[in-house]
Amino acid sequence: LTSGLEAAWNKLKGEEVLTKENIVEPMRDIRRALLEADVSLLVARRFVQAVSEQAVGVGLIRGVKPDQQLVKIVHDELVKLMGGEVSELVFAKSGPTVILLAGLQGVGKTTVCAKLAYYLKKQGKSCMLVAGDVYRPAAIDQLVILGEQVDVPVYTSGTDVKPSDIAKQGLEEAIKKKIDVVIVDTAGRLQINKAMMDELKEVKRALNPTEVLLVVDAMTGQEAAALVTTFNLEIGITGAILTKLDGDSRGGAALSVKEVSGKPIKLVGRGERMEDLEPFYPNRMAGRILGMGDVLSFVEKAQEVMRQEDAEELQKKIMSAKFDFNDFLKQTRAVARMGSMTRVIGMIPGMGKVTPAQIREAEKSLKIMEAMIEAMTPEEREKPELLAESPARRERVAQDSGKTEQQVSQLVAQLFQMRIRMKNLMGVMEGGSIPALSN
Ligand code: GDP
Ligand code: MG
Repeated sequence: LTSGLEAAWNKLKGEEVLTKENIVEPMRDIRRALLEADVSLLVARRFVQAVSEQAVGVGLIRGVKPDQQLVKIVHDELVKLMGGEVSELVFAKSGPTVILLAGLQGVGKTTVCAKLAYYLKKQGKSCMLVAGDVYRPAAIDQLVILGEQVDVPVYTSGTDVKPSDIAKQGLEEAIKKKIDVVIVDTAGRLQINKAMMDELKEVKRALNPTEVLLVVDAMTGQEAAALVTTFNLEIGITGAILTKLDGDSRGGAALSVKEVSGKPIKLVGRGERMEDLEPFYPNRMAGRILGMGDVLSFVEKAQEVMRQEDAEELQKKIMSAKFDFNDFLKQTRAVARMGSMTRVIGMIPGMGKVTPAQIREAEKSLKIMEAMIEAMTPEEREKPELLAESPARRERVAQDSGKTEQQVSQLVAQLFQMRIRMKNLMGVMEGGSIPALSN
């Protein structure tokens, strides 16, 4: 997925702004990358549409290149797609919290039982495992061994007891021992069938669990999202645990589960060791998919600076083509403030090392601009047309600021160019020609 998306960014290198036209190709790449990661066609289509809508309408942040801005938009949409916030485990208000695990055979349920106990023990909770997979003695043994490994008691019984009865007995035992969390393992099947669903429904009825978590294997791609949906409709679940994310999975499962099933991924397994279970952070997952943490924090910084400069007010002015020298100064200063933070510049990929000399140069040119704008009358600042139309005014500004007339002309032209760039960006195309400076 990551490499597929890189093609998308590369197509925007050298572009000035994001437009309906220049995002067509990158969007196609993003869609292809999602499909290759085994995201369903419907989800991919919706995703691309959401990103396109935002990309074209997005305000221009000076100093941020369009490809960087697109990375940020895609990142934020990925986070949204995966449910936004971390979805925490819920604990019972009184009595033991019961977590029922369900899932097909071999997905990692039994391993998750022990991993989860290990994880919760670290948070100071006492745990007990219940061996609800009664059909194979080997399954019970496996849980007992894992329980020993993480030093957590395991409730077992003979293979002749019904799973719902074992679950009930195990829960009673846990209440007696004042255990905080009871984790119940169940038997999987190779495929969804009625026997498994009926059994799970019965166990669920017997336990009234706080959490019913479906364990799914990340390698199954979009099939995982379908499974979560089916189990939710059949037995009602509270979330999913995605295992084997360390394997050769293409990420599609992590992306689609929430969108398709409406149920969040709460935890992910990233290996066979007991410590390889962690909460599912949509944020980090998106960052990992994009592999561009630096670009993201850079764009966030730039957005913050813009906010201070009252981005909304600015936008209104741009819409009504009133962007003037006062705004110009505000915005240029905002960018300069960002630019003078060497650290930030170091984050911009492709920019390499910016030398202190280059920064001094940028600051110098800001000073020159400031001097010229200060030499303008308030009226001229608000109506740059006055300067465009009158060489006499430009000459006066040049004289008062100690700059050349050519420098003043350049500054005026620059302002009109910015107006047009911004108007294009806002999709307001009419009347966008640069007025020629009259002599
Ligand atoms: P169950 O049939 O659902 O109970 O699955 P198990 O817990 O017995 O796990 C099946 C196999 O998957 C075992 O060999 C586990 O070690 C392995 N496994 C479980 N979770 C993970 C994981 O997150 N990453 C990897 N690489 N292997 C896992
Ligand atoms: Mg098992």
